[in-house]
Amino acid sequence: MAKKVLIIGAGGVGRVVAHKCAEYPEVFSDITLASRTKSKCDAIAVDVKAKTGREIHTAQVDADRVPELVALIREVKPFMIINVALPYQDLTIMDACLETGVHYLDTANYEPKDEAKFEYKWQWAYQDRFREAGLMALLGSGFDPGVTNVFCAHALKHHFDEIHTVDILDCNGGDHGLPFATNFNPEINIREITQNGRYWENGHWVETKPMQYRRTFDFEGVGKKNMYLLYHEEMESLCRNLPGLKRIRFWMTFGESYLKHLEVIHNLGLDSIEPIEFEGHKIVPLQFLKALLPDPASLGPRTKGKTNIGCIVTGTKGGGKPFTRYIYNICDHQEAYRETGAQAVSYTTGVPAMIGAKLMCESTWLESGVWNMEQRDPDPFMRDLNACGLPWKDIEFKPLDEVAPQQ
Ligand code: NDP
Repeated sequence: MAKKVLIIGAGGVGRVVAHKCAEYPEVFSDITLASRTKSKCDAIAVDVKAKTGREIHTAQVDADRVPELVALIREVKPFMIINVALPYQDLTIMDACLETGVHYLDTANYEPKDEAKFEYKWQWAYQDRFREAGLMALLGSGFDPGVTNVFCAHALKHHFDEIHTVDILDCNGGDHGLPFATNFNPEINIREITQNGRYWENGHWVETKPMQYRRTFDFEGVGKKNMYLLYHEEMESLCRNLPGLKRIRFWMTFGESYLKHLEVIHNLGLDSIEPIEFEGHKIVPLQFLKALLPDPASLGPRTKGKTNIGCIVTGTKGGGKPFTRYIYNICDHQEAYRETGAQAVSYTTGVPAMIGAKLMCESTWLESGVWNMEQRDPDPFMRDLNACGLPWKDIEFKPLDEVAPQQ
């Protein structure tokens, strides 16, 4: 039976989730989109109606406040919440789900506002409470985290007994023609990139300076790009859940102009999250910068090119010689925009959020407790990726160190 869903967050990703849920009335019978600014929800609802013919409801909520969330959930009575607000709201929304008996899904792990530190520990601490309440929380159902975790689970199920190394490669080959803009929330994006990098090897985290390691990789659909080693949240759960894993790293591409701007921003202290005194007001430099930068949602119509995100996985089967698979998706910015009014970075996050919710609503993935994506059966998710707009390829490959030497 089709289910009611409540989507929280009306940014680029919320726009895609609302459009994609509306495309599957047999799964999502009734959709409410709520966010801090109701007018953004209303604008998305108008577009959803024009594109899919479906009416969706809208509401205002401050998701930092549990009582407001509880009141809204009691009014809407959804089967589950799709949280695509900011990572800061994860815990309040999980608390409200527990109080009202509603399932939960998000795309990014909790991060305290005053400390640029994202970790699963806060959300994993909800394990017993969700299990005892008979509720499910699905964590990180975007692309990375999300699809990348499912690609690893697929590799383990269909190719390997043991996975030895994983390299996650995230390439955005899109060009918006502006000197500097971020493709998703600038505050979250810049906090992620300016931190020290980290990868996991032989049971330990190895810390690196920001942008310390660079490689050039030839991405299908995009071409040659420089990519840099970063910390990314899916590594925290994958290093626990992939048997035999010896090393996992994450790489993201950046253009020269983007890095030059970031360096200047950093040298000026504009990426700081420490409040400063300015003309009698306290302001946070990074939030001030966010107000100056283009709204990521405005990049949709002007972004051309493709994203290519995937996993290069090496391992063994039946005690044989190590071999490598490369599993990836290519997504076109303009096609994503035509379908949902959002560019590919939002699209590649919103579609997996809808699929995770679909598998929960259909009971395919539904199970009490707090789950990371690689802990569920990858097959139905991989099938839906192909059917719902993010087709993937799974090919024989060489280890990353052989195709893209260190520079
Ligand atoms: P945006 O900044 O575009 O949108 C966030 C939305 O959340 C805005 O509409 C904002 O409201 C709303 N919001 C913020 N605070 C509150 C609050 N207290 N109460 C209610 N609503 C609130 O971000 P994106 O759409 O780009 O990203 C959404 C999420 O997706 C983020 O958590 C991001 O980290 C995650 N993400 C995950 C990826 C993945 O692959 N896993 C990739 C990209 C993003 P307002 O409009 O009023 O500011």
